[in-house]
Amino acid sequence: MGKTAGIVGAGVMGRLLALELNEHGWDVTIFDRNGVEGRDSCSWTGAGMIAPYCELEAAERVITQLGVQSASRWPAIIKRLPTPVYYHSRGSLVVAHPRDRNELERLRRRVNENAPRPDIMSEINGKELGELEPDLSGRFLTGLYFPFEQHMDNRGLLHSMAEGLNQRGVSLVTEYSAETIAPNRIGRGSSDQSFDWVIDCRGMGAKHDMAELRGVRGELIYLHAPEVNLSRPVRLMHPRYSIYIVPRPDDIYVVGATAIESDDESGTIAVRSALELLSAAYTVHTGFAEGRMLEASVACRPAFPDNHPRIHTEDGLIRINGLYRHGFLISPALTDFVIGYMENGEIKKEAEKLFRHQTAVN
Ligand SMILES: Cc1cc2nc3c(=O)[nH]c(=O)nc-3n(C[C@H](O)[C@H](O)[C@H](O)COP(=O)(O)OP(=O)(O)OC[C@H]3O[C@@H](n4cnc5c(N)ncnc54)[C@H](O)[C@@H]3O)c2cc1C
Repeated sequence: MGKTAGIVGAGVMGRLLALELNEHGWDVTIFDRNGVEGRDSCSWTGAGMIAPYCELEAAERVITQLGVQSASRWPAIIKRLPTPVYYHSRGSLVVAHPRDRNELERLRRRVNENAPRPDIMSEINGKELGELEPDLSGRFLTGLYFPFEQHMDNRGLLHSMAEGLNQRGVSLVTEYSAETIAPNRIGRGSSDQSFDWVIDCRGMGAKHDMAELRGVRGELIYLHAPEVNLSRPVRLMHPRYSIYIVPRPDDIYVVGATAIESDDESGTIAVRSALELLSAAYTVHTGFAEGRMLEASVACRPAFPDNHPRIHTEDGLIRINGLYRHGFLISPALTDFVIGYMENGEIKKEAEKLFRHQTAVN
């Protein structure tokens, strides 16, 4: 009989793990309390940037390393999916207004210290910026260009992953709120199902089972802005609120994101947040003023105190969590580590600090 895996949580982590385990010959069932689109997951809100170097703005070297490893895996993962996903490898741009140039310099230093490869970042002047993004011509004097970074439509990815699971015969059980997530067992009410391995990918849903897991509220806005023409993510550095603008097809842009220490996912975007995000976007491109607000999306990023992911293990149960603001950036690397562990008990050297034995919370 084949090896069986039951996954709880069909965000980006759970879906990717299900697909890859299936690829490795496992018999997989994945459960989620959401519908198939995953609208209540953090992954539905995420902006879909694969930006291992830009993230050094706030993250540590370990995230960059996981991100670089994952970035090389995404093209093949996406190619195997049954429906096309908006995904581009056009790099990212980082800009700052003249008074905030120290912020640009701070990022430049952090990248040089933590990822010392000369080809991953170039300092560009206003003219070069305009050649990359004609709409930014004359708007900024300098910028940083990260040619290897990627971006994708996170929602399109979730959709295509669900189709891929379906096509491969992996059962995605939706509207299923798991109550028992235990070694070798997933259950609801009085009915349990048994698996060789249970993998908990519940994000914030695992809060009561994982010590120290906290939420960091993120808010972003979808805009339809036909007067803006940007082809790659643009980050605006600012001492208090840095923003990013990430293109989607059909003149749609995602403007994000706040980072508020809070587990509160309720309600829509706060007025203060909307004012900050929209004003900053307007200073990047005045064409946003003529745009239409389509949606404000809110979710809590699951995070541990060091903002690094963790893989908790005990016999028959693995919990993967704390992907914080990097779920799309790092999930391929985490998937590889977890499958290596499930198949032969191997923990790769570079993953040693992420693995730990589960300590139950009372
Ligand atoms: C504003 C914002 C912008 C972001 N931008 C980026 C970005 O550009 N790049 C990037 O890499 N990351 C980004 N992130 C972070 C990324 O979205 C998260 O790290 C990632 O989505 C976490 O994925 P996950 O699968 O662990 O959790 P989730 O996506 O939250 O999935 C967990 C799933 O578990 C299900 N679940 C919970 N409890 C149960 C239960 N009892 N039974 C059944 N199902 C259950 C939930 O319904 C949910 O579908 C962003 C996040 C936010 C909020």
